[in-house]
Amino acid sequence: MSSDHTPFLIVVSAPSGCGKTTLLKSLFSRVSGLGMSISHTTRKPRSSEFSGVDYHFIDQSLFSQMITDGQFVEHASVHGNFYGTSFTSIQNQLDVGLDVVLDIDVQGMCEVKSSNKFDFVSIFILPPDMFELESRLRNRKTDSDVVIRQRLVNAVSEIKQAPLYNYMLLNQNFEVALEKLVAFVSAERMRTSRSLLLDRFS
Ligand code: 5GP
Repeated sequence: MSSDHTPFLIVVSAPSGCGKTTLLKSLFSRVSGLGMSISHTTRKPRSSEFSGVDYHFIDQSLFSQMITDGQFVEHASVHGNFYGTSFTSIQNQLDVGLDVVLDIDVQGMCEVKSSNKFDFVSIFILPPDMFELESRLRNRKTDSDVVIRQRLVNAVSEIKQAPLYNYMLLNQNFEVALEKLVAFVSAERMRTSRSLLLDRFS
């Protein structure tokens, strides 16, 4: 793919219920040149999920073997399951010129940062407030009361870590948030450190 910038990683995190998945789907339909990193996980697939599409669903022993073999850029335990981003899941896409989106948690973002192996930018998506987050989680009708309470407790501690990110995006109005996300990707592609535009003049 011909590109006017060097491809990079876009790390996106958000507490559950902030609309991250919907925002990312819409981002992909609006912006070309993006690839999605497909993580490995020991979590069981949900009814709507497919291996190799949503995640690579693997068992604990294969996950441990991949850690031993050094196949992960980062890995973490999230809500009792293991998740990891493999080098191949991102490098293959960077190699063909795609900017790669990583939908990972705060621990993962910190590991990608400390690995110092990739050029990346990070963005944290915030809900309007905790009341709205609770009502969104309840309206999804996918979780029990206990799970919703746990997600809200987790959200409070995740939001405290938002200052570790390069950008914060408030998802109050979906269309506004999407426009901002599109603008963020465009601006990051124009960074002087990534731009290849001067190649045209050499
Ligand atoms: P879910 O199981 O609902 O798909 O994801 C639960 C959480 O795990 C989300 O916050 C998601 O961002 C995070 N996650 C998904 N894949 C990875 C990964 O490869 N690494 C890390 N650190 N977190 C991940």
